[in-house]
Amino acid sequence: MNTVSNPAFDHDFYKNILESLEDYGVFTTDKAGIVTSWNRGAEHVLGYTEAEICGQKANIIFTEEDRANGVPDHEFAEALEKGRGLDERYHRKKDGTLFWASGLVFPLFDSENQHIGFTKVLRNLSRRKEAEDDALEARRYAQSIVQTSKEPILILNADLTINSASQAFFNLFNLVKNGTESMNIFEVLQSRMPIEPLKAEMQHYDSFENMELHYPGRDGVEDRVLLVSSRKVFQTFKSIGQFLMTFEDITAQRRLEQAREDFINIASHELKTPISVIRSYAQILQMELKDQSTEVVGKTLERILAQSDHLIRMASMLLDVSALRSGDLKMKKEHFLLLEVILEVVQQVNQSQTKHHVRIDEVADATVYADKFRISQVVANLLSNAIKYSPDGDIVTVTITINEANQTIRTSVIDHGIGIPLDKQEHLFKRFSRTDDVKSRKIQGFGMGLYISSEIIKQHNGYIGVSSAGGDGSTFFFDLPLWKAH
Ligand code: ADP
Repeated sequence: MNTVSNPAFDHDFYKNILESLEDYGVFTTDKAGIVTSWNRGAEHVLGYTEAEICGQKANIIFTEEDRANGVPDHEFAEALEKGRGLDERYHRKKDGTLFWASGLVFPLFDSENQHIGFTKVLRNLSRRKEAEDDALEARRYAQSIVQTSKEPILILNADLTINSASQAFFNLFNLVKNGTESMNIFEVLQSRMPIEPLKAEMQHYDSFENMELHYPGRDGVEDRVLLVSSRKVFQTFKSIGQFLMTFEDITAQRRLEQAREDFINIASHELKTPISVIRSYAQILQMELKDQSTEVVGKTLERILAQSDHLIRMASMLLDVSALRSGDLKMKKEHFLLLEVILEVVQQVNQSQTKHHVRIDEVADATVYADKFRISQVVANLLSNAIKYSPDGDIVTVTITINEANQTIRTSVIDHGIGIPLDKQEHLFKRFSRTDDVKSRKIQGFGMGLYISSEIIKQHNGYIGVSSAGGDGSTFFFDLPLWKAH
């Protein structure tokens, strides 16, 4: 049987399809717009049954406003004139509620090609409309946050034109807001700052954090420093191609930091000289009074010497920190045998200690190309920490081993002191970092020694690290490359 050519089957077949389309309402009208048929989809979408609506004017599904403006008649007229009419608008259900729908209207003709009415296919788009409205709402919300923000912040479109920006952004660059919307960000900024580094960063990365930009300020004298960050904007986990960009002017902060560095630098310089003089006078007194000194005078002089050593060390460290910050801590490298330097430092420490003893367990020796003074400074720092942070211990061990595979020599300082929790270990090499444990135990320190040591080792292409299992002491070590004669 040829089912396709069977007209009865065709009719049922298409009717069944039309009936099964729940989100598509299909109905027909006569020329005057009176409903003549109504499918189940229309019943579902609009709420009227076929029996209820047949014989009524189809324009009851329009809003009152649209009816008053002649929209239903206009739709029919357009369909008749162009063969179809299409629009998207609110429609009214039987219960009076409105929903967003697209309507497609076709004119109907009989077998003699006489116009007999219209078919309208109505599609319920409320879900799509809701999603679009939500997205629009979210965008407007984000824009209003950006525009009212007190921070210099902006949203860029995918083509890097400005979508919206806060007044603070315009103020920061002394720009006028009007006319900048839809302009390319680089066009807007080019007269205010060098844009090439920013351009390069944006070409390479989707997102970046705290990119530092330096440029001459408007007065041409003072350098301005800006931190720029950029993030892709995501909406329900999907990138919508926009960027959120923030600017932070840290010029004033940098100026303050610089003033602090300068002060530390000058103060440490100025401190060092008088302390060294006090120290020298105390030494002279110690020598002069050698035979006639009382116990009290002897102890007092020893304390003056110890405290001035302490102050001199502190001033030197502050000077080092400030030299490191300005990149002025230069290494004076030479060839030497590492063991010699370590032995010298260990001997000095042992001479000045009564309670702790530093012993050398494993010894290897090799030539390194390094700054002798700075390397002994690192060893002295590790040893003084090992002693300071093992108040109940008495032995500190030093080992020197060679790693042939890496061509490095490792110096380790092992103590049995208070140890360091795992999560604190990586921070110790930062400036002014001290563990809570040592603060609560009131062990004196400034948190500068390890920072300086790690910077020194870095300048030797070496590595400094720590291992500590907590309560059972710590092992600090540093690796230096072996020097190879070519
Ligand atoms: P300072 O000892 O002056 O505080 P450092 O930079 O030398 O400064 O050390 C930083 C911190 O690292 C110390 O304050 C301490 O918390 C921890 N630390 C360093 N060495 C040891 C050690 N051998 N045992 C336990 N903690 C240590």
